[in-house]
Amino acid sequence: MAQGALILNGKALAKLLRRKIKEHIAKAVSDGNRPPGLGVILVGDNPASKSYVATKEKMARAVGMASEQISLPDSATQREVRDKIEELNAKSEIDGILLQLPLPQHLSADELLCCISPQKDSDGLHPLNQGRLMVGADGVRPCTPMGVMKLVDLAYSGAPLDEIKDIDEIKAADLAGKRSIVIGRSALVGKPVALMLLERNATVTIAHSKTADLPDRVSEADIVVSAVGRPFMIKGEWIKEGATVIDVGINRIESGALVGDVDFEAAKERAGAITPVPGGVGPMTVAMLLFNTFSNYRRNCLKNGGDGG
Ligand code: NDP
Repeated sequence: MAQGALILNGKALAKLLRRKIKEHIAKAVSDGNRPPGLGVILVGDNPASKSYVATKEKMARAVGMASEQISLPDSATQREVRDKIEELNAKSEIDGILLQLPLPQHLSADELLCCISPQKDSDGLHPLNQGRLMVGADGVRPCTPMGVMKLVDLAYSGAPLDEIKDIDEIKAADLAGKRSIVIGRSALVGKPVALMLLERNATVTIAHSKTADLPDRVSEADIVVSAVGRPFMIKGEWIKEGATVIDVGINRIESGALVGDVDFEAAKERAGAITPVPGGVGPMTVAMLLFNTFSNYRRNCLKNGGDGG
């Protein structure tokens, strides 16, 4: 029986990553370069989207980035949003463009994401970047899946987070011989996570709403990533002893509390390592947005190439 799981503190891990990015930006700016720039487009007045955008901009400024927000009304047309994206594509001081999703129903997110320059894609959702992941080429990777992988790396590093001083101490885990299951197959989370686990040599099962034997498949897995959006769907007794459990789901239940897809209290009795919700994958997603923006900046702007990040 596992002696209580290691709780994978995404908030603290994200802080380490932001600190690293901040150091690199401070160095680049002290070398005479402009700061990296993040352009954010918000359409409509969905309160959750407004609050996500405010957090992302605050974090961007805190690491030394310049940020520019373009707010459009709910009634904005596809053409108007596209024009704003083109404006940001043309601005040399912008390195990352974030189109906050979801968009109002009359707009096509797929078409608009294609308008973002792949070099300025900060979410890693441009089809070219998704294709690069598919073929194993370098490119901007999607934020949430990158956050998931960093949390898996933390679990496999075995080091207590409070002893880690530099995020680079956490090495990419080789998952050869490990069985993993990703529950959910969206282009945003499930599919890219599965590809990233595959890149690390894990043996990957992808489950979805038509999967017949989910409990059995989960119980075989050394790594469980759930990205469904159903509270407490993954039962504690399904979890293999010692497994790493990454819960991407964010669900608001009747009491008003935010919970994941996994029955955390029961699962942590069996898991070797597990993410809480909130405080697990969510903060890593935002930190990875900054990482992508900084990586674009380093590639597009820094003439001397910078170092790491
Ligand atoms: P989607 O709704 O796009 O995808 C959900 C997936 O879950 C689908 O593939 C669906 O299968 C599958 N599914 C639904 N019901 C079941 C079931 N009973 N058994 C197995 N699989 C099922 O969601 P997203 O991928 O966008 O997001 C998933 C969750 O992650 C949400 O809670 C979202 O809020 C959260 N999220 C969290 C982020 C973070 O930063 N922490 C970032 C992004 C998302 P099918 O394809 O067959 O319909």
